[in-house]
Order: sequence, then C-alpha cells, then structure tokens
Amino acid sequence: MIHYKTSEEVKKIKQSADILGRAHGEIAKYVKKGVKTSFLDKIAEEFIRDHGAVPSFKGYNGFPGSLCISINEVVVHGFPSEYELKDGDIISVDCGVFHLGFHSDSAYTYPIGEVPPSVLELLSATKDSLYLGIEQAVFGNRVGDIGHAVQKFVEAKGYTVVRELVGHGLGRNLHEAPEVPNYGKKGSGPLLKQGMVIAIEPMINLGTRNIVQEKDGWTIRTADRKPSAHYEHTVAIFEDRTEVLTTHKYIEENFKF
Ligand code: MG
Ligand code: MG
Repeated sequence: MIHYKTSEEVKKIKQSADILGRAHGEIAKYVKKGVKTSFLDKIAEEFIRDHGAVPSFKGYNGFPGSLCISINEVVVHGFPSEYELKDGDIISVDCGVFHLGFHSDSAYTYPIGEVPPSVLELLSATKDSLYLGIEQAVFGNRVGDIGHAVQKFVEAKGYTVVRELVGHGLGRNLHEAPEVPNYGKKGSGPLLKQGMVIAIEPMINLGTRNIVQEKDGWTIRTADRKPSAHYEHTVAIFEDRTEVLTTHKYIEENFKF
C-alpha cells in the first residue's frame, strides 16, 4: 500500500532531508585517503544526533552503522569498518535521517585520489542517470518510466543495472511501497500521484549485473568484483512539480577531488 503524504508531511521530510544533506557535507570533509570508514560513521552519527535527529540505518534490522559504506566492488549495504581508504578506491556513502517522524535517504559515490578514467566515467554516468530518473518522476508518469530512463542511458554506455535492489517509497518507514527499480518499461508500474515520496537510487555496475551477498548477511558485491556506483535522492511528487528533498550540494562544496 502506498502512503500518500500531505504537504505538511512533505515539509517534515524536507526538514529531515536538510539535516541529511548537511550530514553528508560534514562527512565529505573527511572522505580522503587514510581515513577509516568507522570514523566517517562516527562523524555522521554525531552530526545527526547533535541536530536532534536519529540515524535511520543504525539498528535497522540489526544494521551496525549510521552509514552504509560500500567500497569498489561493494554495491550497497557495506559496514563501516577499520578499513582505511586508499588511492584508487571508490566509496559509496549512503545515509538516512529520521526526524519529526519521517525518514529521508540519500547516497553519493566518491573517488579517492587517482581513480582510473573508466571508473570515473562510471561514477559520472551513474550520477547523470539519477537525474534522468528524477526527470521522469513527475505526476502522471509511472514508476517504470523512471527505471526505463536510467536503464536506457547506462546500458547505452555498456554498463549494467543491478536488479535485485531497488529504490523505494519512504516516509514514516524507511522502506515503503512502491518499489522503484532502475530498469523497466515505459508506461509500466504504479502511477505517480500527488503526495508520493520516493527514493531513486541507481546502482550501476562496470561489469555484469550479477551480485552476491557476503556471509555477514548485508554486504552486496558484484559477482565479477568489478566496481559499482550508487547515487540516491529522496523526491516528492506534486501535481505541478517534483521536489528533490535531499541534496548533494554540501558534499560538492566540501569534497576536494
Ligand atoms: Mg540510501
Ligand atoms: Mg534508499
């Protein structure tokens, strides 16, 4: 069942998303070679709690961190750890904030130091595909229009779309209906209506689309161990517009390539 939000509820999600955007900006200051990913997690949790909010992921079905940290061939849901970032890594930082009764969710993949051009192109195409998906996330379109736009764009570049993990509705719960796949047919799936709030999150692989789950029960990596990229925004659909509630602005201001 899809929960349609009132404008008042969307305003609360926006306030949650504002803290999330600034938490991402704070994390971005520390994303560099030699940093332990558990330190990034600590920065995120402190920032979120200092702003009177709660990290959505911490304890969610037993997840240990406030961030999902997914490095190189890890697609999503990696644990923060004592691993130190090194030159040539890519790292997806996924974070959620619960505030005023509502969740917001967004992710960004960073390159660390000298990353091969082929991998930088994967990052840039994945980020572009997120915005192409958002362009289709408008009142009167269908969920399949979003996935179709993402899939068509990235597959034309020779990349593949992870199928087993998808975007999602969110609000009072971190994951709500509908599922928002990053592949699909134009004109298929649930209709996008006023008050829908969804997380759009392309997970795009350099090699094949196949994934495996590690024994920890969470970490998802590519089967061929080639890199995977992930970017995510939370958006709200209104009859006359679509609002991107989360932001990567503070990341892009604070992260030094
Ligand atoms: Mg996320
Ligand atoms: Mg999500």
